[in-house]
Amino acid sequence: MNERDSEQVARMFVEGGYTLTGVEHEADAILVNTCSVRDQAEQKALGKMGMMGKYREKRSHVVYGFMGCMAQSRGEELFDRIPHLDLVVGTQKYHRVYDYVDGILRQRMEGRMDEVGAEMTSLRVEEELTKGRFVDRGAEEGSQNTIRDHVASGTRQASAFVSIMQGCNMRCSFCIVPDTRGKERGRPIHDVVEEVKRLAGQGTREVTLLGQIVNLYGRTEFEKVDGKSPFVQLLEAVHEVDGLERIRFTSPHPIGYRDDLVKAFTYLPKLCSHIHFPMQSGSDRILKAMRRPYKSEKFIAICEKMKAARPDLAITTDIIVGFPTETEADFQLTVDCVKRLQFDNSFIFRYSKRKDTPAAEMEGQLPESVKEERNQELLKIQSEIAIRKNGALIGTRQKVLCEGPSKTNKARLSGRTSQNKIVIFDGDAERMTGEIFEVDIEDSTGFTVYGTALLKEPVQA
Ligand code: SF4
Repeated sequence: MNERDSEQVARMFVEGGYTLTGVEHEADAILVNTCSVRDQAEQKALGKMGMMGKYREKRSHVVYGFMGCMAQSRGEELFDRIPHLDLVVGTQKYHRVYDYVDGILRQRMEGRMDEVGAEMTSLRVEEELTKGRFVDRGAEEGSQNTIRDHVASGTRQASAFVSIMQGCNMRCSFCIVPDTRGKERGRPIHDVVEEVKRLAGQGTREVTLLGQIVNLYGRTEFEKVDGKSPFVQLLEAVHEVDGLERIRFTSPHPIGYRDDLVKAFTYLPKLCSHIHFPMQSGSDRILKAMRRPYKSEKFIAICEKMKAARPDLAITTDIIVGFPTETEADFQLTVDCVKRLQFDNSFIFRYSKRKDTPAAEMEGQLPESVKEERNQELLKIQSEIAIRKNGALIGTRQKVLCEGPSKTNKARLSGRTSQNKIVIFDGDAERMTGEIFEVDIEDSTGFTVYGTALLKEPVQA
């Protein structure tokens, strides 16, 4: 989601005539979009921003800004940590970042341009902005509708993220998101479909619909129609877009994961055979302490219904181990669920305290050694399952959407199956990126599989 928000901000700068650069010391504005899910992510963002202050020694006009969840939750306090910081912009104000940065930059640059006698049109800069140390983290109605544009990369983009909603009305006891992202707010179906049409028109073949609880999309704004939730209505509308071949979404919640969504996988073939479905724990007692309002039986039942609806479905999940008061017996219930459901992959996190969350204040915090031990045990079990499942693909022929050169080896190409397995193969990036090819799978090393693409015409999803 942060990646998508950053892309929206970048697009506004490109439209305003700026150029994006990956070279930090050349940048006139340095913006760090921050995540608050884990303390480590905040520390990393603070460390990075601190280090980049040196660029102002040679280029005094450089503007520094924090955006996103940490900006939202910490506000003014960030100026004490980072003295060279100019701007703190919260999660409902991404669409304002361009005006703020451009205003500060023009004012700083204007002084310099005057010295050399050049002409420069000055934009009106808000009085507060000129004082420096500017903070905007207020709520803004309709802000969810502003994350809708994409950066034209110059090469075909096989797959794109589409933000369909912002915020979350849940109150999981370990999570700070409801404080940083606000209440659930969905974009109108028509707006989302128009965005997907634009992407498909530019050659994008796959979209991933994004929301904190994506399956609860629109529940407070839009009506059910023929017993179908707004999310299923949205899936049906996106499915109609010509040129689009694949639809993914992340992340759904067991709450609101109803039969209409399960059934959609039987009649919407563009829906990929993969869901990322956070379980968090296999113990009902721990789920209750986490304020996750479902029992593990319900979670299991949804997975089983989904596998019946789409037999080749891959399921990945998120799990927290070492949550306060988690006993060995609770942990073993999680292990049992992992073994029973045979996830294709799990993102396993050792519980870490997040400031301002109820779980951080709970009795029964566990020692790091116990968390680490459980983490390693579960990782081992999950790795064995994933390696076995990926190994079983050897000798099969898979449809793979080519995403372009592999990140780890630019000489080869990378793509994904409908089940979201990463496949590495050889071929011509220019011709193959954004197309779906059949690939004969020949090898597997853990989480990546390798194969040979059948270089005929591209196929349908
Ligand atoms: S569902 Fe829970 S974990 Fe997910 S964003 Fe909402 S509060 Fe956080």
